[in-house]
Amino acid sequence: MLSALESMERLREGNTRFRESLRQETSIGGRTRHLVLPQEQDPFAIILGCSDARVPAEIIFDQGLGDLFVIRVAGNIVAPSQVGSIEFAAAKFGCRLVVVLGHSQCGAILATLDELQQPPEHQSRGLRSIVDRVRPSVEPWLELELGGDREALIRHAVRANVQCSVNHLRHGSEILEQLILKEGLRVVGAEYSLETGAVEFYESL
Ligand SMILES: [Zn+2]
Repeated sequence: MLSALESMERLREGNTRFRESLRQETSIGGRTRHLVLPQEQDPFAIILGCSDARVPAEIIFDQGLGDLFVIRVAGNIVAPSQVGSIEFAAAKFGCRLVVVLGHSQCGAILATLDELQQPPEHQSRGLRSIVDRVRPSVEPWLELELGGDREALIRHAVRANVQCSVNHLRHGSEILEQLILKEGLRVVGAEYSLETGAVEFYESL
């Protein structure tokens, strides 16, 4: 079992390979992936990422089949089913690292911003459940938009939204709290840049 630090190093190295386009043979993008398909999954990290089609965790971290336990949902929000999935993976596979992975220009942030500025007459309950979770991370930065700096607003909101999910996971689950206290589980925020392909971890371990 890898420690949280070792897991983070592996992700960092993978992202560097991705950026340098030096793909491993065992990665999803590798040519021989059908030869290395594991019988059982043995993921070393859990990623809660956004559903955005440009941010597939396995590819941007250059990892192979079975390496990552990935949960993707628009806006990388935390709802009960995400908590349950992470509890399951942390307990069953012994993963010691959970990464909440946001990204630049996140559509969920932009949609929430649009909604705040122009509330729609009708919105599905499903969509509302996402926007409602993102809204608290956007609202504090609305002044920036008034000052004409929409880019800064989005940047701050993306980061706040990741941090909100991190805090929720750290404190919203008895199981995860115990694993953090006693087993070295770490929950960290990170952000993928669509512009550069780089993942920045918000903290080091
Ligand atoms: Zn997104």
